[in-house]
Amino acid sequence: MRVMAQLAMVMNLDKCIGCHTCSVTCKQAWTNRGGTEYVWFNNVETRPGQGYPRQYEDQEKWKGGWTLNKRGKLTLKSGSRFKRLMNIFANPDLPTVDDYYEPWSYDYDNLLSSPPTDTTPVARPKSLITGEDTKVTWGANWDDDLGSGPEQVGKDPLLGKLEDKVKLEFEETFMFYLPRICEHCLNPSCAASCPSGAIYKREEDGIVLVDQDKCRGWRQCITGCPYKKIYFNHKTGKAEKCTFCYPRVEVGIPTVCSETCVGRLRYIGVMLYDADAVLEAAQVTDPQDLYTSQLGVFLNPHDPRVIAEAEKAGISPEWIAAAQDSPVYKLIVDYQLALPLHPEYRTMPMVWYVPPLSPVVDVLTETGHDGEDARNLFGAIDALRIPVGYLAELFTAGEIGPVRASLQRLAGMRAFMRSVNLGEEPDSGIAPSI
Ligand code: SF4
Ligand code: SF4
Repeated sequence: MRVMAQLAMVMNLDKCIGCHTCSVTCKQAWTNRGGTEYVWFNNVETRPGQGYPRQYEDQEKWKGGWTLNKRGKLTLKSGSRFKRLMNIFANPDLPTVDDYYEPWSYDYDNLLSSPPTDTTPVARPKSLITGEDTKVTWGANWDDDLGSGPEQVGKDPLLGKLEDKVKLEFEETFMFYLPRICEHCLNPSCAASCPSGAIYKREEDGIVLVDQDKCRGWRQCITGCPYKKIYFNHKTGKAEKCTFCYPRVEVGIPTVCSETCVGRLRYIGVMLYDADAVLEAAQVTDPQDLYTSQLGVFLNPHDPRVIAEAEKAGISPEWIAAAQDSPVYKLIVDYQLALPLHPEYRTMPMVWYVPPLSPVVDVLTETGHDGEDARNLFGAIDALRIPVGYLAELFTAGEIGPVRASLQRLAGMRAFMRSVNLGEEPDSGIAPSI
């Protein structure tokens, strides 16, 4: 066992209201500069939808993440080192500006000076780069405006793969928000794909950073990251990414996105993990085992043997205490409520998600009971408005079991807390099952 410590985040998706405060405060703090206009270290996607950049989950197209070669060895999907070096000058596996968007602003003077028209005065969008008028065809949160009617659902790459048929009538549409930052992966393919060795994972807390002095702008990391969470600064010619706000966390304050989150849905904590187990888990390809193998790399911070090994590895008593007190450990391991985003990429992401139970489901049961009635919901979990299969494609490589279990616990907790808040006797049949 080789114990290491990692900062991790859990986001509770039921609480996200899609206000984008996190994205804006992050942008003001870190990417409010020339060359980073289109860069969103934190973005909030509307699901179903295509994400940012557009269709970033299509790994056949972008060749991100890991795969096993013919000899069963873990290798980058973007090919051998030789192939990647050859690609340096003409990398075909990069999103273009159209997959992000051409950053624009508005000519606000027009609002005051434009002649009266039949419609509201329009401030035309101008390219932030060329200053020319621009036709905006895509944006960081485009799907928010489109909703998830039949047309949009049809375009979603994940929904296309669903086996359980999603009904496309408008009354059965669904949406939820998915905030995303860099996953600060335990097995980061961005670092492995960098020809300059500029990307590194900090030993003390696992934060993945780009050394700006070493970066030569080859952009292989953008191909290699399956979450497309590295961005190219076209002014400096260097790659940039979310830093987990390390200057803040080093002095004991949370990341900007967590501190300013209106829904208070971001939990930060320390996880102890077995570094030897990480590469083994990264070799697992069977969708049935992906979630459990990744869960299996985390160590119990209360186990005396783990504590002794952690001390031997030089992990400070404060960090061990933080791991023992970690809300993230509770949500991921103790309660098994939080799930990883796309474990099939096998980079071992460290931002996990509590899947959304909302909206309430009174349409689902003949009795008309809603999502707070756990007893009805236990039977109806598979008929939730957000299809469990869709959530499973996002969080467990299609395995329904862990998602269903998480949703049932959430439903049980809701029912329990509802009784407590109403001063009623909690249903004794619920507590043991959550
Ligand atoms: Fe690297 Fe972050 Fe992408 Fe993981 S999510 S591969 S750490 S950039
Ligand atoms: Fe969601 Fe919080 Fe971001 Fe608002 S600030 S969009 S609630 S994650």
